[in-house]
This record gives sequence, structure tokens and C-alpha cells, in this order.
Amino acid sequence: MTKRFVIALIKHETNTFSPIATPLLAFGHGNGPYYGGEAGAAFAGSNTPFAAFLDIARREGAEAITPIAAESWPSNMATRATFEALLQPLEAAVRAGCDACFLDLHGAMVVEGCDDAEGEILRRVRRIRPELPIAVALDYHTNLSADIVANATVITGYKTYPHVDMYDAGLLAGDILARSLRDQVLPVMAWGWLPLVASVMRHAPEDGPSGDILAYARAMEKSGRVLAATLLPGFPHADTPYTGVSAVVVADAGADVDVDGAKAAAQEVCERMLAIAWERRAEYVFHQQPLEQSVARARALGASRQNGPILLIDHCDNCGSGGAQDVMLVAEEILRQELDDVAIAPIRDPQAVAQMVEAGIGNNVNLELGGKTDMPAIGLAGRPLQLAGRVRNITDGEIVFTGPMYTGLKSHLGRTAVLDTGRAQIVVTERHHEPFDLVIFRHCGIEPTKKRFIMLKSRIHYRAGFKPIAAHIVECAGAGVTNADLSGYRYRKLTRPIYPLDAM
Ligand SMILES: [Zn+2]
Repeated sequence: MTKRFVIALIKHETNTFSPIATPLLAFGHGNGPYYGGEAGAAFAGSNTPFAAFLDIARREGAEAITPIAAESWPSNMATRATFEALLQPLEAAVRAGCDACFLDLHGAMVVEGCDDAEGEILRRVRRIRPELPIAVALDYHTNLSADIVANATVITGYKTYPHVDMYDAGLLAGDILARSLRDQVLPVMAWGWLPLVASVMRHAPEDGPSGDILAYARAMEKSGRVLAATLLPGFPHADTPYTGVSAVVVADAGADVDVDGAKAAAQEVCERMLAIAWERRAEYVFHQQPLEQSVARARALGASRQNGPILLIDHCDNCGSGGAQDVMLVAEEILRQELDDVAIAPIRDPQAVAQMVEAGIGNNVNLELGGKTDMPAIGLAGRPLQLAGRVRNITDGEIVFTGPMYTGLKSHLGRTAVLDTGRAQIVVTERHHEPFDLVIFRHCGIEPTKKRFIMLKSRIHYRAGFKPIAAHIVECAGAGVTNADLSGYRYRKLTRPIYPLDAM
């Protein structure tokens, strides 16, 4: 009989300090979740775990049932009603009968009344079918809980940041589960957690201890000692008891290995990964320079001819981690120090877009740009920047990614307008979007490789598209809910003591 695989995607990275709400419509990047066949069609062939799960179903000759694919940009927690609306199609599909479940989840989702949404999703599926084989692919920024591990058969995660191996992580989890359904492997898991909040600005493999830990994980997978070894550096902007650095390892207890031996191998690899993270925990702390100095450094670099643009990274207000994307501090300093030939993307400001659309291409406008969002959780009031300029372009904001991240997926910026102030061309959008693909500029007629300076509201993901074209990168500490200085957040739920907030 044809096997039935339930394949679903429910993903949200929740910044519990974010001023941005998360209604059901936010899933689908503004258009709401995809359901049924639409979900399969939207993600097939993309660089996502969901697409890998679809390919595995096809390979195994199984029927793929895709009740829901729902992904939102990071923001604050969804309501309980929204969460139930996301869960309901998945629960109905499992209840209707299936042989296995493949879930593309984030791992740092918090919802109203629940600090561990992924644990709750998995608990609810297992409540319907206690023995159901479940494969889960998680984001690198997962805050792992005991409930997630206890209610899954196989767990993997991304090994890159920017996340350019999402498909591979799905393929690994899905393949192990598919082989277990054919009795070729018997997966067992071990996991561990550290009281360590690692700054996201130090998560990339080339920046801190993660690179060496990932190299060890890959070597252990390649040697066959374990089936999958995953490092999860966590998401420090979600205030939960599970927030921290963790690891999860899958080993094979089939064939000539006994269950205890496989568990011991998984445990040993997991402990080694976490030992490296703990020994080198000081390297996970990000030290930032005052904004004025960073912009002056970029200006000095730009004084001589460069082999490509100089990137100024406005990392404290990154919508890709829950930022409002309208804090104008870094842009203001760039203009104050009179940097020339600058492209900026993107500022989210629907009001300013409306004004520019009203004025029309080629006409002059006077705007109060950005600064529309108050951030009570960090005591920051919105402050717009008064700017005069010409409307250089207006687009519908419909883009397709061609760079290495989310390759092949569509995104919707909403109406988009370019303000030209003379020194700077500023891309202003109706919706949130982290710039990780050159299309953010090119779709509205700006060629990023030709600019002297580029300011991006991003932390690490910009590297996917922009690092290859950059001559230099200067990180600029503005303000916002993705500030890398973790001592500024009023945490209430973190497990204490925790490094580096407490002496350890
Ligand atoms: Zn992530």
C-alpha cells in the first residue's frame, strides 16, 4: 500500500522584545499561510527542508500530504488563537491517517502562554499518534527543549549561517527517517544544553567557536560514528527558560550496534561539541564600537578607490530577527558625516511609501522617514529623520531570490519606493524584509556593485548575497531590539545563572 507522509512547515523566530505583532497574515510573508496543494507548489524546488521532504516522499513512492506551510519574518509572539489556527490543519492531517510526519520548524517560536511552541506542536502530534515516526529540521537559532527531543524520532539543523544549507538539513533528517521506515537504521538521540547566551553577531562559522564545532560535527557524520550531529547556538532575543546553546545528535542503533552503544556514541559526540562551546564561551560575546567611530572608519576606507562597495551593517534593527527596520540612527550618522554615493536598504515605512507614490517618479518630496515604531521593551521611542529628495523609482515589490539563500522563492516587499537625497538612494518598503539578496536593489534599478557605500539592515544573512561583492564590511551599532549587547535587555524567564550575564 502507498505510504502517506504528512509534510508541514510552521516557522517563526520570536523576539519577545520586538514591537512587531504576528497576525496569521504575517505567515506567508504578508499573504497568510499556504494550505494543501498550494503549500507544495510554493516550496517545491526551493532551498528549504520542506522541499527536501517533498523530494523524499517522491523518492519513496509515498503520497505527500501538505496541510500547511506557514513562515513569518521574526517578530513578537503570535496569539494563542493564531497558533491554534496554524496547528489545526496539521492535527487534522495526522488524524486522517499517515505513516510518518516531516516537519520544517524553527525552534525559537514563542506564543502567548507557551515558551516552547515547537515542543507543543510535537506534543500535540504525538498525542494523536503516540508512536508516529517524526523527522524535524530546525533552524540554527533553535532554543532546544526536552519536549522537542522527546517527541521527535530524528532531529537535524542547519550547519551554515547565513543559512544556505536548509535543503540539506531537511534531506538529512528526512533520509534517516525514510531509512528507518525501511528498517535500515534505528535512530536514537542524545542532546545537551548550556547556560550560555551567545551573541548572534558571533554565531557565524568564520567568527567564533561555531566553525570548529561544525567541522567536528561534519567529521563525526562522515566517519559514520553518528548519523547526524547538530549545533544550535540559540536565539538570545527570545526570553524563555530554554534559551541557550545546545546540541542534538542522532546515532544508529540498528544492525551490529546495540542501543546502549549507539546512545553512548551520540552522547559522547554531543558532549564534545558543547565542551568546545563552553571552553571558548568568551568568543561568543560581541564587542561593539561607538557608531560615530564605525561610520568614520567606513568613510576613511571609502576615500580611496575600492574593489567593490563598503558595507555598513546596521545590525541592531534587523527585521530578520524581529527589528522594526525603521530606526534611522545609522542612516542619520552616514548622512551627517557626508558619505557619498550610498545605497540603503530597506527602511520599512508604509506612510513614506504612500507619500512617494502620491508624489510620483521624478518629483521632489519632503519626508519624515522611518522612526514610526516605539519599542517599549527596550525603552526606545521612534524618531523619524527629516529628509528631502526626489522619488527615483516605484515598484510593486514582487521579487524572486536568485542568490544562495532561499534560492527560487518569491517574496513580497509591498509597494517599494526609492528616495534619492543626492548623496544616498534609500529603498523604502511597505513590508519587512532582511536584505540578503542583491535583488533588493536591482529590482528597483540600483546596481549595488557600482556603489561606494551600502547600508544594510541585517546582521549576518546579508553575507549570503553581499559579502562576495564587498571590499570592506563595517558593523555599525545603532539601536533596536536586535542589539548585540545583551546586558540591555530585561530578561525575566532565562534560566539563571547564565553566561555572560552572570559570572560563570
Ligand atoms: Zn536562523
